[in-house]
Amino acid sequence: MTEPNIIDGKAFAARLRARIAECVAALQQSHGLTPGLAVILVGEDPASNVYVRNKAKQTVACGMRSVEHRLPHDVLQADLLSLIAELNADGAVHGILVQLPLPGQIDEQAVMDAIDPQKDVDGFHVINAGRLAVGAAALVPCTPLGCLMMLRDRLGDLSGLAAVIVGRSNIVGKPMAALLLAANCTVTMAHSRTRDLPGVCRRADILVAAVGRSEMIRGDWIKPGAAVIDVGINRVPGTEPGKTRLVGDVAFEEAVQVAGAITPVPGGVGPMTIAVLLRNTLIAACRQAGVAEPDL
Ligand code: NDP
Repeated sequence: MTEPNIIDGKAFAARLRARIAECVAALQQSHGLTPGLAVILVGEDPASNVYVRNKAKQTVACGMRSVEHRLPHDVLQADLLSLIAELNADGAVHGILVQLPLPGQIDEQAVMDAIDPQKDVDGFHVINAGRLAVGAAALVPCTPLGCLMMLRDRLGDLSGLAAVIVGRSNIVGKPMAALLLAANCTVTMAHSRTRDLPGVCRRADILVAAVGRSEMIRGDWIKPGAAVIDVGINRVPGTEPGKTRLVGDVAFEEAVQVAGAITPVPGGVGPMTIAVLLRNTLIAACRQAGVAEPDL
């Protein structure tokens, strides 16, 4: 990955984790406080298992406490909610994350809303979504915050830039729009009913793709020099029979010829998401303890 316009999310995430580890060590020294993250995994989904293992490993590597709770696939919603109530009351736990997706018998939003908003390190609680929407201090969803950090790092001041976000989910598209609006971009949100999507994308100085459709956004949809952030993670058949590979929502080989900056898949947005989760856990611990929070 040598092209200067490729944003190396893996390296950026490693630098962020190193800064988090320094802040955690300083917090232990100054206040005897160790941030703790509790992760709840329901069922045996292999992809979720890998995510949870990575999260736990990286949490510990940053000097924080990691607690894992594994519940059976057929767990009752009431039992999951009572575990969340216990973790809400546990002073050693500063962040709570419930790995999604959850099985059908469980109402995901009810679970998200049962988490103490101060411990909601995924930023999915309606209180945090509302605080972000009105520009108040919130815990912000990890993926869009990671995207914003990479954009700021690459472009500096984002004021006045035209940003187009394709996708309007509560976990990526909408919080991304709120963050870019707060950064003084002129924001357009596109979705499945948008007319002339290629034309809308071509107006973007910043194009964020969060759709879940492999390589939908083509090179000729991109304004020359634009910054392209590809959130999509799509598994497609690989070149060898029986093998698969990951691609984004953007046709990378075409887009990299046109974009001023672009995140690859894998190695772009994905690694940043876990690093920002650790950042949010540290920030949540500082806020709960009334300690000045680091600028991360
Ligand atoms: P959702 O399925 O919740 O939302 C997809 C959005 O894309 C919807 O708003 C939908 O529009 C829009 N959309 C679908 N088809 C089209 C189309 N043909 N043209 C324009 N818009 C379209 O997805 P998520 O936001 O949860 O995730 C998006 C992608 O990001 C997925 O690939 C997911 O795996 C990935 N992801 C990656 C993360 C990371 O860490 N890198 C974290 C989270 C997600 P409408 O609302 O009209 O239906």
